[in-house]
Amino acid sequence: PPHGEVILEAKAVTRKFGGLVANNNMNLHVQAGEILALIGPNGAGKSTMFNQLSGVDTPTSGEILFRGQPVAGHSSREIAALGMSRTFQHVRLLPNMSVLENVAIGAHRRGSKGVLAAAWRLDRAEEARVLREAALQVERVGLGEFMHVEAGSLALGQQRILEIARALCSDPCLLLLDEPAAGLRLKEKQALSDLLKRLKSEGMAVLIVEHDMDFVMSLVDRVVVMEFGEEIATGLPEEVQCDPAVLEAYLGG
Ligand code: ADP
Ligand code: MG
Repeated sequence: PPHGEVILEAKAVTRKFGGLVANNNMNLHVQAGEILALIGPNGAGKSTMFNQLSGVDTPTSGEILFRGQPVAGHSSREIAALGMSRTFQHVRLLPNMSVLENVAIGAHRRGSKGVLAAAWRLDRAEEARVLREAALQVERVGLGEFMHVEAGSLALGQQRILEIARALCSDPCLLLLDEPAAGLRLKEKQALSDLLKRLKSEGMAVLIVEHDMDFVMSLVDRVVVMEFGEEIATGLPEEVQCDPAVLEAYLGG
């Protein structure tokens, strides 16, 4: 999609869990080629929003469109085919398999089927193709030197980057990352930030859900701040950073 085109849009999205309103009348959009951060204190409703945007969860009311198509009712495979790819808040890797194998399995997974069953059903030509594609993505994110190392032996920051390599295999135009910087050291955050900037320069849109305000401020084009399930501020990083409602949400809690 052309730079600046709205590719993902949430319209009046409300999500209730029993009596708890986790998202209340949320509107947001992501444009092609931009990095948007969805931030807010713990419990604000960020992951709930994220799960609905990625089609894992369905709004109680409201609508989510990705490239003009409702996300609800599409399988994760169909959503990936449309160009959206996500990572999860907690690292999901096979620690005893190599970096390359983890990416290759991810490249073939995409559906809800068992990971290994999917891998074993490949014929040789298909397996070679998947491995080539996976190797390209491992190189692309800068993990080439760890290609044949066990994923579990990598530092957390490298594991997060490995998950991004896996997400890149479906050739997305939009990456959704849930708290990619959580638990990382400063150097690891910088490496992650550099990678995301590079992907953006290649035309990728990225939506980052993040608790760590410092991490997003030097990285993103635009910020949406949530508290108690609602948007409390939105704008450029430097604007929301000194917004009194945002300071109150982060410091006053
Ligand atoms: P955040 O990611 O911003 O920390 P969440 O979206 O995970 O916030 O949670 C928002 C609120 O919704 C919290 O009060 C949480 O306990 C509640 N919540 C999230 N998921 C569920 C669920 N599946 N069932 C019940 N309550 C949930
Ligand atoms: Mg969360």
